[in-house]
Amino acid sequence: MLDRISDKFTDVIRSISGQARISEKNIEDAVEEIKIALLEADVNLRVVRRFVNRTIQEAKGDAVLKAVSPSQQFIKIINDRMVQLLGDTRQELQLKGPDTTSVILLYGLQGSGKTTTSVKLALELKNQGRRPMLAAADLVRPAAIQQLMILGEQHGIPVVADEKAKDPSKVAKSALQRAKKEQFDVLIVDTAGRMQADLDLMKELQGIKKVVDPVEALLVADAMTGQAAVDIAKTFHDQIGLTGVILTKFDSDTRGGAALSIKSITDQPIKYIGTGEKITDIEPFYPERIASRILG
Ligand code: GDP
Repeated sequence: MLDRISDKFTDVIRSISGQARISEKNIEDAVEEIKIALLEADVNLRVVRRFVNRTIQEAKGDAVLKAVSPSQQFIKIINDRMVQLLGDTRQELQLKGPDTTSVILLYGLQGSGKTTTSVKLALELKNQGRRPMLAAADLVRPAAIQQLMILGEQHGIPVVADEKAKDPSKVAKSALQRAKKEQFDVLIVDTAGRMQADLDLMKELQGIKKVVDPVEALLVADAMTGQAAVDIAKTFHDQIGLTGVILTKFDSDTRGGAALSIKSITDQPIKYIGTGEKITDIEPFYPERIASRILG
């Protein structure tokens, strides 16, 4: 997880922290190394430029050059900038109280991990004392309904599904009615993906969103696809509106480009990360923790 980018940053930090005094040239050299590390990590070019400019500007101020411990001060600036790239603070799900049903819509391209993530999230919320229900509104991928029903059953989460249904909005709407009637306080709707974010998909998702009025509309994006994940997040946010992102396959992502670009490019926070194939492999996303993992 983030091994490659972390190795690079650890080298930079090590070279700075050994120095009793820091010159402007030291700062420029270190920032150049950081720039290369971020570009190799597949971080969006605009984001890299902004990061580099702000870091240089701040580091060349008196706070670093005249500090008692300039290297520590410089490292702190790098850390703070990194946390900022990752989204500053932890963003919780905006769920309503247990007396109402909060709807969470999950979007994503095929293979991003959407169906697995629906159940992961349901289980995570169940473990927090919520009563989640799942709705199978992915009517495109042939095995999606079965997959959700099997996983739901294995983990004690009820699934609303209709294998003959043709209209995903109707599935979502009747699932919400049932969830309300049976007093489930969270309804997680697994929607259909496509190979790409085409017009057809956007229309379908807009339709579902309209009938269930979700408190969260989360994009499930594959971290391993780097900038493609960021582009997809931007498209989904522009077309249907997101409230956040779940980055899957974080366990296999050595570079970190998607995690480091999504907030700056879409202004949407990463709320969870998928960290493996098991149903319990999901973690809340904490920008500070990921930054310290990268900086070593
Ligand atoms: P969907 O087409 O978006 O519904 O994708 P699926 O939920 O079927 O997942 C596609 C594949 O990705 C499956 O083999 C999952 O086990 C795998 N997967 C999902 N999330 C993660 C994750 O966080 N880490 C890893 N390593 N694999 C994942």
